[in-house]
Amino acid sequence: MKRSLLNAARGLVIATAAVLTGCATNTMTGRSQLMLVSEQQAIKGSVSAYSGMIGGFARKKKLELATARVRRVKEITNRLVAEAVRFRPDAASWSWEVQVIEEPKTVNAFCMAGGKMGIYTGFWEKLDASDDEVAAVMGHEIGHALASHTREKMSVGMAAGVGATLLAALVSSRSSSSFDTNRAAFTSAAALAVTLPNSREAETEADQIGIELAARAGFDPRAAVTLWEKMAKQSGARLEFLSTHPSPENRAQRLNELIAKVDPLYERAKSGGPPDIPDFLSANPSERPAGTLSRADYAARVSAEPQAMTFISEDFDRFKSGQAVLACGAECALVYTFQKSTWKTLHEKQAWRELAIRVVKVGYENDLSYYLLAEAAKGLGLQDAAAAYYKRAAEAQAGGKTCGGAFNTCDGFVIGDAR
Ligand SMILES: [Zn+2]
Repeated sequence: MKRSLLNAARGLVIATAAVLTGCATNTMTGRSQLMLVSEQQAIKGSVSAYSGMIGGFARKKKLELATARVRRVKEITNRLVAEAVRFRPDAASWSWEVQVIEEPKTVNAFCMAGGKMGIYTGFWEKLDASDDEVAAVMGHEIGHALASHTREKMSVGMAAGVGATLLAALVSSRSSSSFDTNRAAFTSAAALAVTLPNSREAETEADQIGIELAARAGFDPRAAVTLWEKMAKQSGARLEFLSTHPSPENRAQRLNELIAKVDPLYERAKSGGPPDIPDFLSANPSERPAGTLSRADYAARVSAEPQAMTFISEDFDRFKSGQAVLACGAECALVYTFQKSTWKTLHEKQAWRELAIRVVKVGYENDLSYYLLAEAAKGLGLQDAAAAYYKRAAEAQAGGKTCGGAFNTCDGFVIGDAR
């Protein structure tokens, strides 16, 4: 039933979106997603839906509070969040929160837009989940949030639940006042999004992001496999988790491939001491022990390190070594033209990793592309790679492959300057 609603809604979303809006490229995955609601609308709607939902559990005395298990869940989750902000530093400003919901027969967990999380006690009562397995499930959920899957599902839900006129109004006005006027619609869309199944594509993304967050935070990535195995063996329990998290093709095989990739990160995290990380889950981020980093400072520091998510890092590794080759010609010119302004914004924001990954992915050969790779390498402290790309930018320019021209602009960049 849910699936058919989702499919019907998807069709409507695609049709409507084609008229109303374009696609947004996801900053975590590079995948193009239909986004009818803005990030702020998704976050505000989720916060509102979450407080209604958690308030309901609190009234029914179904929230587990201040137990050793709650403290452990918070500690595990906080370590995962500290890795998440490495790849999405903007998420350091989210009001992250996790609640343990006392429903011993329910196996479910979620993370809404903006970092509002819940895990049901069925994970321990039915699956006897280890800390590593809790990290696997929470990492997976955080992966959904980082990759904006709530936003994607809210778009679907809203298209199904509201008329085209309201939808058009929502889409055309993405300001925060539009949230206040349509608070109820956004809140119910966020609440609905939690119950809608993710696409298999989204599942693959959440698996990839989650397993890497867990490994980096020092949790055994193999737990992702044992967790799915335990769930597959369960009958009798309410496995709501499986209804909203369908299994992508060859999940076990893919997870095993990912484990091999992220295992060195796990080994490194294990051998390090306890990490010095801010408390991302406290309600008062300004109250912190003297001498410790603020959330924003911590995120700025770790996000400046030249690392990329493992599953998108093949391109990035080549970039880091100064070996990235941009060889695409006219067939990539259109994409290049559309992406240039985004690149400029990323350059302004000093989002070097993302800038590098995007330029390499487009692969358009000209002086601006190489220049931006050089700038990204310089920003990340990769001096040799930066020198190589500045040189290639000059060569491309000398060879006539330049952003300067009658129908073409360099978007304000002065190639060859600022070396
Ligand atoms: Zn999932």
